[in-house]
Amino acid sequence: AMRLKLILGDQLNHEHSWFARPNADELFVMMEVRQETDYVLHHAQKIIAIFAAMRDFARRLRAEGHRVHYLAIDDADNRQSVPANLDYLLAHHAATEFRWQAPDEWRLDRQLADYAAALPITAAMDDTEHFYTARDEAARIFEGRDHWLMEHFYRRMRSKHGVLVSDTGKPAGGQWNFDHDNREAWQGIPWEPADLRGRHDHSALWQTIQASGAKSFGEPNAGNFAWPLNHEEALAQLERFVELALPHFGRFQDAMSVKAWRLFHSLLSFAMNVKLLSPRTVIDRVQAAWRDGAVPVASAEGYIRQILGWREYVRGVYWRRMPGYDKLNAFGHDTPLPWWFWDGKTRMRCVAAAIGQSLEHAHSHHINRLMVIGNFALLAGLSPEELHRWYLGIYIDAFEWVELPNTLGMSQFADGGLLATKPYVSSAAYIDRMSDYCKGCHYDKKARLGERACPYNALYWDFFDRNREKLAGNQRLGMVYQQLRRMDDGALAALRERAADLRARVAEL
Ligand code: FAD
Repeated sequence: AMRLKLILGDQLNHEHSWFARPNADELFVMMEVRQETDYVLHHAQKIIAIFAAMRDFARRLRAEGHRVHYLAIDDADNRQSVPANLDYLLAHHAATEFRWQAPDEWRLDRQLADYAAALPITAAMDDTEHFYTARDEAARIFEGRDHWLMEHFYRRMRSKHGVLVSDTGKPAGGQWNFDHDNREAWQGIPWEPADLRGRHDHSALWQTIQASGAKSFGEPNAGNFAWPLNHEEALAQLERFVELALPHFGRFQDAMSVKAWRLFHSLLSFAMNVKLLSPRTVIDRVQAAWRDGAVPVASAEGYIRQILGWREYVRGVYWRRMPGYDKLNAFGHDTPLPWWFWDGKTRMRCVAAAIGQSLEHAHSHHINRLMVIGNFALLAGLSPEELHRWYLGIYIDAFEWVELPNTLGMSQFADGGLLATKPYVSSAAYIDRMSDYCKGCHYDKKARLGERACPYNALYWDFFDRNREKLAGNQRLGMVYQQLRRMDDGALAALRERAADLRARVAEL
């Protein structure tokens, strides 16, 4: 008997029960395929990171005595798609059983379920043993609700898993949520911690990827590659984060600066999403740092909320709403993405900074993604589906289960408000308050009208004006609509005209 077990590129969890002990009747298969490099145009660092991490993982399994058949992207036997490779491998090894781990993306979940259903041999799916929640756990919690309040889910998870709660069930520090303490702009003190991620030369791999014909964009940085690519490197990054950045994480969580792209963020999303690092390991470590008095409760809570709250919650949204969620477009926005999404060349200094660092590092932190890039896209009426494909391609941590609800739901409100209680949009004032982007910008952050007026300003008012029917009934938007009602007709007409002009010329901004 020969059991063939498939490991996908984002399933690099060596703590999984599959790997408890070597078994001569088992063969692990891993494959680098064009199917996975090509479903969207990817950032070069994303392709390098996944392949390099997979190769490292295969080496580790072999060193532990496991049998591995690894199909590299340039392997002559590689059929370049998951099903075609499985056909070949199952036959080649005369497999009598096929097993795979639950894919996190609907696309692969469907493909493998269909594939397995047609096999003449025993086939079954195992859990990835990675997440706190089952795919449908959030859906069960929110059964019958139109709005899924993250905070509700998050508190349930805190209690259920005993995270930052006392023996009597009280939240640490007397509050469930310290978000109000997390609103500071950053003036340069303290400076962001040095980027101490290990560096590797992946030039040879990058050559191979290019020779395969796979297309990509962004800075490869292959010779000096900076992302953690195995469990030990990810753990080291976690330790550095807890020591150097976590104490300040809460305060500066929403801050942005041209001078500091990382600020106090952990840069652990890639490692977690490909399962090199378990969310439990991260949360246990952060909780311990708080217990030891090394970090304030607001920082520990703010950080843990992102992982035990948001990360698990958006996954629940994804599995409840797929297939079809990627096509939602509540505002009917259809403007194509302007070319500067691929080269960062816009005179809006905030957007140029956020997209520029994304091109350089395959990463940008949450507020840049949400309140600079996503904010602009929503105000300008860019196509949410195109935007979704851009986010899915550019970020090293982008896998559809987490990227799609964030982009389409949280950032673009394209689901009509399942995740977000109101659209995340702002005029220049918010961006200016939270960053140094507006200083020295071509545009005037204070002006609403005229060639040099910051585009966010007229677009902001125009967005609420043209979506009155959909949004005016939203209680959280009462103030906005009150201000709009008070605006005189001439002022409103001028804003509409300016916004229409901006929307017609997005490519030139
Ligand atoms: P930190 O700020 O250090 O946060 C710690 C961890 O919390 C992250 O590693 C991540 O695992 C988790 N987290 C934080 N915010 C979220 C969130 N909103 N949803 C889910 N998990 C969260 N995150 C991805 O992992 N993949 C994506 O493709 C992705 N796309 C996004 C698209 C948009 C439009 C927006 C607004 C956010 C997106 N995020 C995505 C969430 C967030 O921006 C990233 O997780 C974060 O920037 C990763 O960097 P970090 O590890 O330094 O995060």
